[in-house]
Amino acid sequence: MTSSTYRGRIAPSPTGLLHLGHAATFWTAYQRALDANGVLVFRDEDLDPHRSRPEFAVAMIEDLQWLGIRWQEGPLRQSDRREAYLSAWRTLVERGFVYPCTCSRRELARSAQAPHEEDDEPLYPGFCRMRQLDAVPASPIGFNWRFRVPDREAIVFEDGAVGRRSYLAGADFGDFLVWRRDDVPAYQLAVVVDDAAMRITEVVRGADLLKSTARQLLLYRALDLRPPAWYHCPLLTDERGQRLAKRHDALSLRALRERGMTPEEVRSLFVDAPSRSATLEH
Ligand code: GLU
Repeated sequence: MTSSTYRGRIAPSPTGLLHLGHAATFWTAYQRALDANGVLVFRDEDLDPHRSRPEFAVAMIEDLQWLGIRWQEGPLRQSDRREAYLSAWRTLVERGFVYPCTCSRRELARSAQAPHEEDDEPLYPGFCRMRQLDAVPASPIGFNWRFRVPDREAIVFEDGAVGRRSYLAGADFGDFLVWRRDDVPAYQLAVVVDDAAMRITEVVRGADLLKSTARQLLLYRALDLRPPAWYHCPLLTDERGQRLAKRHDALSLRALRERGMTPEEVRSLFVDAPSRSATLEH
């Protein structure tokens, strides 16, 4: 069989134990790469020094391998790629797409993490957005850097799983962070720089990141990069209809494995399930 040009990725964050919801999404990413006879890249999204833990990085690799997922490249670590993010930040500053923000916002603490539904970045009210720079600073340190979104532009894209989506810049999402005051690149910037550098052709991830795709498309455009195709998987929910999160410890792959479940049994909880809202006991 000749290998195709398909390049997918799985990109967990080592901030807790992976649970069944992650497993379902990563399994889909793995299957799509396999079906396309393509390459799967493993990326360790350990950007946030305050939340990432080496022991979770070890655990996520072990747990995904136990489940039966195989990748051909990686693990690549975001913490090793600071220069690439800095260079993208510089380009954005030079092109006038981002501005330094001195507002102190609660979301600062979270912006290196992918925003999952309930913790989405709030709309920035825009106090600093008119700020102009006389020169490009040597480093981003000391400010929050925000992307100035084109107000009222509809960002439209086709998604392989959920179809056409449209989000209004300035209404559905506002000027988002690309770099944090404490010198940590934000998730939105890092993920675009990485997916482009790793020549990812299709991004498979959870449907809670659909709105982030609209933000990321603005970054692709600003940086003159070619966006991948998108495939946002429906999310697994618990019996109360709540999205699974790292706090559902009983549904971590570790816990299921310790209860004696086999990888096949765990996979059967989401593969070919008639509905993603599995009734999960915990
Ligand atoms: N690291 C992100 C997360 O764990 C995934 C980001 C992505 O797939 O774009 O939520």
